[in-house]
Amino acid sequence: MSDAILVLNAGSSSIKFSLFVARDESLGPMLRGQIEGLFTHPRFVAKDDAGATVSEKSWGEGTRLGHGGALDHLAGYVRGELAEHRLIGVGHRVVHGGLEYTRPVRIDAGVLAALEKFVPLAPLHQPHNLTPIRLLLERQPGLAQVACFDTSFHRTNPEIAQRFAIPAELHDAGVRRYGFHGLSYEYIASVLPQHDAQAARGKTVVLHLGNGASMCALEAGRSVASTMGFTAVDGLPMGTRTGALDPGVILYLMDQRGMDARAIEKLIYNQSGLLGVSGISSDMRTLLASDDSRAKTAVDLYCYRIRRELGSLAAALGGLDAIVFTAGIGENSAAIRERVCRDAAWLGVELDPAANADRGPRISTAASRIAAWSLPTNEELMIARHTQRVLGSA
Ligand code: AMP
Repeated sequence: MSDAILVLNAGSSSIKFSLFVARDESLGPMLRGQIEGLFTHPRFVAKDDAGATVSEKSWGEGTRLGHGGALDHLAGYVRGELAEHRLIGVGHRVVHGGLEYTRPVRIDAGVLAALEKFVPLAPLHQPHNLTPIRLLLERQPGLAQVACFDTSFHRTNPEIAQRFAIPAELHDAGVRRYGFHGLSYEYIASVLPQHDAQAARGKTVVLHLGNGASMCALEAGRSVASTMGFTAVDGLPMGTRTGALDPGVILYLMDQRGMDARAIEKLIYNQSGLLGVSGISSDMRTLLASDDSRAKTAVDLYCYRIRRELGSLAAALGGLDAIVFTAGIGENSAAIRERVCRDAAWLGVELDPAANADRGPRISTAASRIAAWSLPTNEELMIARHTQRVLGSA
């Protein structure tokens, strides 16, 4: 009977899950899926390692399953699938670990209370991340749970990189740059040595270009700077998020448009980015396929901001050995990778178009001074590995 680990990523309206089993020295994926539409039209789907649907269920329109109901269904399903395995614990993706949690932690009531204190720092994500943790602590107190944070990996940033130019009292109270997508960057840092030993030892910028998007400067595999700051809305434009925005714009909107915090929150998180600029879609595929000039502007701005942030992170590193593309757009869009690489020609990136069209993984020529890679990320596996290690069975 081998060990299994359940990974949960809970959002406001969905719970994504992955199930890993211990095989030889490593963890292998067994099942993954989600329950979405938790409060509107709940739908459950589970897929095997090959991507084939192995279980599906739909609740009627208007059913409010909630996180509790979703966990009940998931627990029953997982129990049925694990006849041959022993569930050793659940690993959770938690967006914020503050300054305190520089690594994953086993959860008890005290840790949960500490994590609840970070809700004001990430009000759109943290409460939903914590809901299944609280429910499982109540319902299955004997089940080991581990929290893995999006912020932890960036705690190696030098103090100066974490600082805003605001009064010290506010900095000391926690208003600083935390950085996010840390589990994705940590995973890329963990596989980079297999691909490019020099980049793994040296200076690398990783571009996590998904629905959320950010970039991270790695020095010898450790994060030294990133484009996201106090919240996950800073830095690059994203599917629906603004990215960096002059704070004066917020004041203008309050004074001249009478917008309050909630209206501004909606604007900067849900109505901006690729969707806001194009007025068409937040999905890069749709924009790349469109003839509409507004779609072109959105893609141009996206690439332009990446170009500028790449220069900024290379300056923070004081040099550059490699760039790595990852996440939905980074892994799948040869067109965006090509544009970013061509924009970075001045830095020494020479694209290999055939390799790029073929998904690489190396997409730069052999002669390129700076290597360019396209590598799939795997935040769920990173969480499963952490969970296994924290629970001491590695
Ligand atoms: P993620 O959040 O990492 O799942 O990335 C999701 C985003 O990846 C989607 O919003 C799409 O815009 C983008 N994406 C996925 N496949 C492609 C593709 N073949 N070309 C361009 N963008 C893609």
